[in-house]
Amino acid sequence: MAQVRLEHVRKVYPDGFVAVHDASFEAGDGELLVLVGPSGCGKSTLLRMIAGLETVDGGTLSIGGRVVNDVAPRDRDIAMVFQNYALYPHMTVAGNLAFGLKLRGMDKAAIAARVDGAAKTLGLEDMLQRKPAALSGGQRQRVALGRALVRQPQVFLLDEPLSNLDARLRAAMRVEIARLHRSLGTTMVYVTHDQVEAMTLGQRIVVLDGGRIQQIDTPMALYERPANLFVATFLGSPAMNVLRGRLALTDGPALVGEGGLRLPLPGLRVPESWDGRELALGLRPEHLLRADAAADTAAGQGRDRVDAFDAQVEVVEPVGSEVFVNLRLGEHALVARLPPGELPRAGETLPLRVATGQLHLFDPGDGGRLQ
Ligand code: ATP
Repeated sequence: MAQVRLEHVRKVYPDGFVAVHDASFEAGDGELLVLVGPSGCGKSTLLRMIAGLETVDGGTLSIGGRVVNDVAPRDRDIAMVFQNYALYPHMTVAGNLAFGLKLRGMDKAAIAARVDGAAKTLGLEDMLQRKPAALSGGQRQRVALGRALVRQPQVFLLDEPLSNLDARLRAAMRVEIARLHRSLGTTMVYVTHDQVEAMTLGQRIVVLDGGRIQQIDTPMALYERPANLFVATFLGSPAMNVLRGRLALTDGPALVGEGGLRLPLPGLRVPESWDGRELALGLRPEHLLRADAAADTAAGQGRDRVDAFDAQVEVVEPVGSEVFVNLRLGEHALVARLPPGELPRAGETLPLRVATGQLHLFDPGDGGRLQ
């Protein structure tokens, strides 16, 4: 069993900076666990601690049930893939793949078998005699993966492995990594700052900010029930809308506030004592709907429905399969994600409504989820 387990792990750099505060999580045996967060959140520090490249300054780190706080990197049975590939430029692809195994004193036939196997898995068979300079970025990244693969480690650690690739190649390599994980069934801990990569690759995701874990869950659970405003706005593109105001529960629930804010909140269920409560309301762009859509009009509701409100269209961004509409509600900015079709025009007033039961309520002070 090759689970990676952190209990109350802490990292303090020599200058006194605390890069990781009290991190506890586990990558289960065979799991692909993603660590995600903005630049400086401590994700690489965590991965480097698991690899043994940074000291653990508090707590316990174990791999496969063995505490490894003081175990040298080469004795941890892990393989790491770095963002910059770290290939040896003077060696061929075959040489790069074989190098780590030679260092370990493995015999030639066994090395050749492993190099062949990795080359086949990653589609590198035709490039084995080339040097890294004669490879594309995607091919180099594959060699870097191959170098980890030949080691047949208990755990793979990947530090932003796709960030040097262009968008198309990144999407293709993402699928390759997912496929590789499925076929190998090896535990992987994968670091990225890219929320799309995290959502699409991770079986579970650890969201980090400021050296602290914000939430750990499956991608959809994080998306549908973010624990706080940070997670809510970090995952999802376009980002979740956040409006600050107070609840008004008489005359149909609504969020009211400064700058001409009055947003009807159909179906909101909160205790009556919350009337007048200050909060931050989170609303995903796909949960803003047109109130003049055909279905509404047919139902005789349309523009007159009590839960409709008007917003001014500022910028319209068609992306083919959908349209992002940047809106203004009084002094507040909102983004709606609407189906393609008739495009709203800049300057137009658009009747909208909030989808029932799709609201996220947060404490305006500490950002924690209220319900
Ligand atoms: P990025 O995506 O930019 O690589 P990250 O989330 O991986 O960011 P880390 O590299 O883990 O972040 O760094 C976490 C914090 O620790 C940052 O604020 C960084 O400046 C700080 N840090 C990293 N290395 C050191 C060091 N050797 N000494 C002091 N502080 C450091």
